[in-house]
Amino acid sequence: MDYTQIAYTTQGPVARISHNRPKARNAESQNLLTELDAALHQATVDENVRVIVFDAQGDHFSAGHDLKEAALKRADFTVEQRWAYEELYYFECSMRIWDCPKPTIAQVQGACIAGGFMVANMCDIVIASEDAFFADPVCQTLGAAAVEVLIHPWVMGARKSKEFLFTGRKMLAQEAHAIGMVNKVVSRADLESETTAMAEQIAQAQPFALKLVKRSINRTLDGQGMRTALQAHFDTHQLSHVTEAFKVARDQGLESAIKRGREQG
Ligand code: ZN
Repeated sequence: MDYTQIAYTTQGPVARISHNRPKARNAESQNLLTELDAALHQATVDENVRVIVFDAQGDHFSAGHDLKEAALKRADFTVEQRWAYEELYYFECSMRIWDCPKPTIAQVQGACIAGGFMVANMCDIVIASEDAFFADPVCQTLGAAAVEVLIHPWVMGARKSKEFLFTGRKMLAQEAHAIGMVNKVVSRADLESETTAMAEQIAQAQPFALKLVKRSINRTLDGQGMRTALQAHFDTHQLSHVTEAFKVARDQGLESAIKRGREQG
C-alpha cells in the first residue's frame, strides 16, 4: 500500500508507523487514521516484525483529530452518522492498537493532544522526549466529554485524570513519567535511538511469550472492567456531541476553540 499521510518502515524486527503530516502538526485526518490502521495490520501480519513503534515526523507527535476536516466534512452529521464514524475511526482503530498481539511503543515528542493522546496511550509502552507534553482540553474548548476512548484513568489514575480533563491543562513529560503514564523520558536528540534500543531488546524475547504476557496483562485490566468502561464512555461521549454547549462551541468556530485551548495551555 502507498501511504500519503503516514510513513511505514521496518528495520530488522522493528516496524515504525509514523504520523507524517508535520505541517499540520500531524493532525489525525480520516485518511491518516485509515493508513495508521492499515500499517498496523501490515506490521501485525509480517512475521519478521516483532515490535511496533508509533512515532511522528516533525516537532510534534500529534495535535489530535483533524478538526478542520471535521468542520468541513462532518459538521452536519446526524447522531447516527457521527456514532458510526467515531466508532469506526476512533474507537475501533484505537482498540486494534490495544489488542495488537505484538508489543507496541509510542515515541512521543512535542504536542500529544486529545486524539493523539488516545493513540499514544493505546500503546504498551510510552517513551517521551523532554519537550513532550500531553493534553486533552476538549471539555474546556469544545464542551465534549474528553476523547472517544477514555484510556486516561487506566494510564494516569482516577484523580489525575479528573484534574487533567477538568482543567484541560498541559502535562509535561516529567510529570507524566512521575505518575507512571510514561515509561521513560530522554533528550529529544536521543529519542529515536533510545526507543529503537528498547524495541530491539524486547524483540530478543520469544514472540509467542510476549504475545501471551501482553494478553494476560490486558486481561487483568479487562477483569477490572476496562473494556466495558471504555465502551460505556464511548456512548457517553456521543451524548456530549449533541449538547447545546457543543453546538455553541462548534458554531463559534474552530479558531476560537483552539485559541481558548492555547490560552488555557
Ligand atoms: Zn467525538
